[in-house]
Amino acid sequence: MSLNDLAIDVPRAAAGAAAAELRAALGDRVLLPGDAGFDAARTPWNTAVAQHPFAVALPASAEDVIDMVHAVALSGLRIAPQSTGHGAGALAGTDLRHTVLVSLRGLRGVEVDATARTARVLGGSLWNDVLEAAAPHGLTAPHGSAGDVSVVGYMLSGGLSFYARAHGLAVNAVRAVEVVTADGTLVRASEDEHPDLFWALRGGSGAFGVVVAMEIDLLPLADIFAGMLLWDATHAAEVSRAWAEWTKSAPETATTTLRILNLPPLPDLPPFLSGRSVVVIDGAIEDTDAAASALLEPLRALQPEIDTFARIPAPALIGVHMDPPEPTPSANHHAMLGDLPDAAVEAFVAAAATPGIFVQEMRHLGGAATRRPAGGGAIASLAGEYLVHAISMVPVPEALPAATAAVHAGVAALEPWRIDALALTFIEEPDADRSAAFGPAWARLRELKLAYDPANLFAAARPV
Ligand SMILES: Cc1cc2nc3c(=O)[nH]c(=O)nc-3n(C[C@H](O)[C@H](O)[C@H](O)COP(=O)(O)OP(=O)(O)OC[C@H]3O[C@@H](n4cnc5c(N)ncnc54)[C@H](O)[C@@H]3O)c2cc1C
Repeated sequence: MSLNDLAIDVPRAAAGAAAAELRAALGDRVLLPGDAGFDAARTPWNTAVAQHPFAVALPASAEDVIDMVHAVALSGLRIAPQSTGHGAGALAGTDLRHTVLVSLRGLRGVEVDATARTARVLGGSLWNDVLEAAAPHGLTAPHGSAGDVSVVGYMLSGGLSFYARAHGLAVNAVRAVEVVTADGTLVRASEDEHPDLFWALRGGSGAFGVVVAMEIDLLPLADIFAGMLLWDATHAAEVSRAWAEWTKSAPETATTTLRILNLPPLPDLPPFLSGRSVVVIDGAIEDTDAAASALLEPLRALQPEIDTFARIPAPALIGVHMDPPEPTPSANHHAMLGDLPDAAVEAFVAAAATPGIFVQEMRHLGGAATRRPAGGGAIASLAGEYLVHAISMVPVPEALPAATAAVHAGVAALEPWRIDALALTFIEEPDADRSAAFGPAWARLRELKLAYDPANLFAAARPV
């Protein structure tokens, strides 16, 4: 049982009083059930998850967040910080009936310091916001594969990007975190200020408070060699074997992913993809055009139907993985692998045909992603050489059990090569064993949770 599961029992009369107190303290900055806009405000990006919080608070400033933490603590309720709801699946095990969802979606903004190559990012900012602000200075950031994921939710749980093998996990680029803690104080945590809290936030994320701003290092890249190669899925076995072999000697400048996609016949999809199964290799190579092209030669020799690898402006990398631009209901599961021998490749390809699998994916780790830098936080690296990830769509709520079974089957096929580790940002299920993502840091993280949030005010996806 996690601390999140210890739902506070608020009797009906007390709940009425708590609602009145919240309204009195926060006015129209809080939405209660029945208020106009409540349903839209409680709906997460992952629309497969139905969230039923006690109320939704919508801060527009750090001062609003301070007011909210005071008001919610006084009313005996709990707080779940949320920026977009991309990680809502991992919060789904928490009873939100006595929890106020503090939705950071209105707290966005990015200031770039081009000389220092850093950005100060407000608590609910999206990766698209950062890329837009950084690009005019010839800078970019270690974003993931979707531009509408929040910077805080991604980075403070690790953050695996197409820059990971060259530059490490994104969380290591966090320089300072401005967070409202359980006593309602706005604290700046960095290497020199509240170093214990700084360590804990980098992995502990929303379990330690509501983050109102963060300072991050940017990458000095105006452009990048990146793209994708696509074949019909009839070539999946041959392409997957070749990619697995290629990754064994690929330099750390190359971070790539292999995917088999079973695409439904949807009008939103381009005609060349609609209703087809395809195998795709995508990613980024941080090198000269000549070196990157030479590196891709063995994969290009397999004559892909589409080849978009070329030098592109750095912000365009966010589109390479073709993640859905709109809120999407899905079920996900993942595992970390120590190795990818031929038998594992065969199992991966066969599992992609499991009914209900939408995407069967293998991300190449290793390189700087597996190295823990000095001064790193509770999460600073990933164990394993590969990450297998299965995604299934959940078009109607009744489809969730079948979708969950499909993604578990997709990952279970790789069981003989699984190692005892997890990647925190890929944990989408409420009952996953988070300790596996932290290793030896788990015990210290739990001690710090008790020290900083003794009443367990903060309910997080992936709770500590
Ligand atoms: C389409 C898609 C693509 C993805 N691609 C990648 C990828 O390439 N690499 C990768 O590593 N991960 C990826 N992820 C996973 C994603 O990074 C995590 O789910 C991440 O936690 C989402 O953060 P969010 O804030 O957008 O989501 P939310 O659900 O809003 O937040 C998740 C948790 O983060 C914490 N949090 C968020 N904002 C705050 C805040 N301001 N203060 C305190 N706590 C906060 C809370 O604990 C919250 O429960 C992807 C997910 C999806 C759905």
